[in-house]
Amino acid sequence: MTPEPAPTPIDVLAIAAHRDDVEQTCGGTLLRMKSLGLRTGILDLTEGEAGTRGSAEERSAEAAEAARILRVDIRQALDIPDGNVANTYENRLKIAKIVRESRPRVVILPYWTGRHPDHYTTSILGYEACFVAGLSKLDTGDPPHRPFKIVYASLYADVRPSFVVDITEHIERRFSALMAYRSQYANQPAGGALFVPEEEIRERTFAMARHYGLLAGVRYAEPFVQKEVGLVEDLTLVPVQSI
Ligand SMILES: [Zn+2]
Repeated sequence: MTPEPAPTPIDVLAIAAHRDDVEQTCGGTLLRMKSLGLRTGILDLTEGEAGTRGSAEERSAEAAEAARILRVDIRQALDIPDGNVANTYENRLKIAKIVRESRPRVVILPYWTGRHPDHYTTSILGYEACFVAGLSKLDTGDPPHRPFKIVYASLYADVRPSFVVDITEHIERRFSALMAYRSQYANQPAGGALFVPEEEIRERTFAMARHYGLLAGVRYAEPFVQKEVGLVEDLTLVPVQSI
């Protein structure tokens, strides 16, 4: 019997707690990576059943539409309970299985502090799952794989980014992906006091991207933190003007 050919690896996999988290924090970066010819993917850990607005079924259809707009090659959701993302061995294994199947070179995780426990828990859980995915003695049916690089999407974190990604060419499409979540962002009575009105979301999205763009001398950008230091080969090619 000839062995199944290994599926083409994903170059950049974004892992997030909730459907629409990626659209809010690093969707432009996924579009940019796609424009460079890379393969991209999204893993949502929950299905959004605990949200104030919309059912899990609605959010599933919206996530599929957003994935189409973001041009990702794969999008999957796990069944971890929304509002109760916990760093357990069982959950690490669930994520590690996807990491082994998709074999990403780069994983994007949420920043490790924040208001919502699901977000900061996903940061640690995702990191530990990437570690577990590389353990050769762990059998999940797929060969071990550990991503080369982990970066943290820090748009909502009050920290100075390590670097930003220029998304100027992609910001309109990124905004369209966010707006695919009609159950969350279209004006409606449910949760009116909790949710930002639709008209303000565009202003807020563009203002934040503009802020991070200005830090690096481009129009719109998304911020990231890396734990490692940067390595430079040629000082004359380091981007972002100093004076
Ligand atoms: Zn979220």
